[in-house]
Amino acid sequence: MAKRRQNRARPAPKRRSTARKAPYVDAAVATEAEVKQGVKIPASLTVKQFADLIDMSAVEVIKQLMRNGMMANINEVIDHDTAVTVASDLGYKVLGEKGKGATSAKKIKKYERFSEDDTSVQKSRPPVVTIMGHVDHGKTSLLDAIRQTNVTATEAGEITQHIGAYQVDINDQKITFLDTPGHEAFTAMRAHGAKVTDIAILVVAADDGVMPQTLEAIAHARAAGVPIVVALNKVDKPDANPQRVKQQLADHDVLIEEWGGDVICIPVSAKKQEGISDLLENLLIVAELEDLKANPERNAIGVVIEAKLDKTRGALATVLVQTGTLRVGDPFIVGDISGKIKAMFNDKGKHLRKAEPASPVEILGMESVPKSGDTLTVTATEKEARIQAEKRQEEKRLALTTTKPLSLSNFFSRVSDGDLKELSIILKTDVQGSIEPIQTSLVRLNNDEVKVNILHSDSGSITEGDVLLALASNGIILGFNTRTEPGAVQIAENEGVDIRNYEVIYKLVDDVEKAVKGMLAPTYVEVIAGHGEVRAIFSARGNRVAGIYITEGKIIRGSQARIIRHSKTIFESSVNSLKRFKDDVKEVTSGFECGIGIEGYNDLEVGDIIESFRMEQS
Ligand code: GDP
Repeated sequence: MAKRRQNRARPAPKRRSTARKAPYVDAAVATEAEVKQGVKIPASLTVKQFADLIDMSAVEVIKQLMRNGMMANINEVIDHDTAVTVASDLGYKVLGEKGKGATSAKKIKKYERFSEDDTSVQKSRPPVVTIMGHVDHGKTSLLDAIRQTNVTATEAGEITQHIGAYQVDINDQKITFLDTPGHEAFTAMRAHGAKVTDIAILVVAADDGVMPQTLEAIAHARAAGVPIVVALNKVDKPDANPQRVKQQLADHDVLIEEWGGDVICIPVSAKKQEGISDLLENLLIVAELEDLKANPERNAIGVVIEAKLDKTRGALATVLVQTGTLRVGDPFIVGDISGKIKAMFNDKGKHLRKAEPASPVEILGMESVPKSGDTLTVTATEKEARIQAEKRQEEKRLALTTTKPLSLSNFFSRVSDGDLKELSIILKTDVQGSIEPIQTSLVRLNNDEVKVNILHSDSGSITEGDVLLALASNGIILGFNTRTEPGAVQIAENEGVDIRNYEVIYKLVDDVEKAVKGMLAPTYVEVIAGHGEVRAIFSARGNRVAGIYITEGKIIRGSQARIIRHSKTIFESSVNSLKRFKDDVKEVTSGFECGIGIEGYNDLEVGDIIESFRMEQS
């Protein structure tokens, strides 16, 4: 242990900058309902202009600039990026990314100021740890071993409940463990926008070495910017070969301390419960380097780890309190549901009156079941919670119709909008040998404005984990001579993740190059507006007119339309007339009847289905 303690004196590891202490809960986690106003930041402006713009005193702005290492007087001109950084430090939410290629103006929105920025009220909080690694390498066993070795005498008789997370005590400090091992769960949370984990334990079985899911776990932790601690498990086995594992890790750029890197590697045996305390003590050291802080004085903000409907108790959710103190009686919103904490329990099933930062608690008091990854925010009153919940529901409806996920074809326009400057790619190939040439060609496409970033590459089929990683990291998936697993297709379709499969390397690289240069022809997807069924045919001034009943959605005049007879498309053109009684109308919605004319087709029959659709750029 003495050797480890020396680490404390070392500067923070290179892999992550701790220079700027990001608040544990950043502005992006705040509720949309807290938005007060939006402002635009121009390319450059004086400190005074900037202070006026964000409605704050110039002194406050100067103080914040100083905290960021910049001395400036009130008339000094600051550039756009500095202004955006300071604005976000001062509690504004920045929409989009700053940086090169960005348009001169960025929209930002003002949030309720977080007391998080007030360092005087911040206190250290326990780290939140997730265990990842290849199947059968001992993730579950390790979680169990950690739980068992740290049961205090008073708790020994108590039955631990599975609530999705638990806390252990070590050297009078706490560590919170998320109880769902694996990078899929980790990334699924991230895909919902929740940054939950502070440290990832990478379990590698010493007798088996680095395996495909070990590599996936590394990629997922890196994409999230979470430091890794390696638990070299199963060292009790006679065929354990720790040196080989260390070599393999180094081959994948995970350099452990012994090899001159900064990744801590602890040999353990989950089965024999050996090395567990050493592992825990080292987690505390990493946590100290990460300088994890939160403000227990404020109203709580948390994130849902898991949730379910209990037959007798109603909607239950395990919430990890991220900042503030959560108390029984607190009104809150979670996702788009409002509620009030009726009761709270810890992982031993013990009633709690309050829960501090990084505590996992099971809560009662919601009308319906929230989703894992949803943010819980305590509000001042129950009424406010209700209003905010309604607003979120409305915003969700709006977002569904307006936001487009990233695709290779819309990448360049996102870059032009200043929205993006990096194309994150997950590359899956038929064989390992294909990875290197493709990667090299892709990385060569980097230019001043756009960087191609290979988040993860491996041989094998495209999995659900790959889709989740793409979703969480706003990336796309490129497959080369490989297949996409059905589960992955499903999630990709639901969430709009772009998967492209290629059989020729040249074509793959060419498409990415075109995307990066904004030359890729847009792809279109069909969006169905509605269906109608022909119920009657009659003549009007010598023309055959079809009377239809709208069964679903709506039929829009001018939209594209196809005629379906006996489940087969027999004609495709557009809706050229739409009449309700004698009036021309733009659209007719489900449950109504109307007369319809289809361009170039005069032989509609009773029973025909009319499908109205439009093509949208994906
Ligand atoms: P997971 O799939 O990563 O969650 O792995 P499990 O925790 O289910 O463990 C897989 C198998 O490895 C089980 O049969 C465990 O008993 C065994 N195992 C786990 N840890 C150790 C260990 O430290 N030593 C030995 N010998 N076996 C272990």
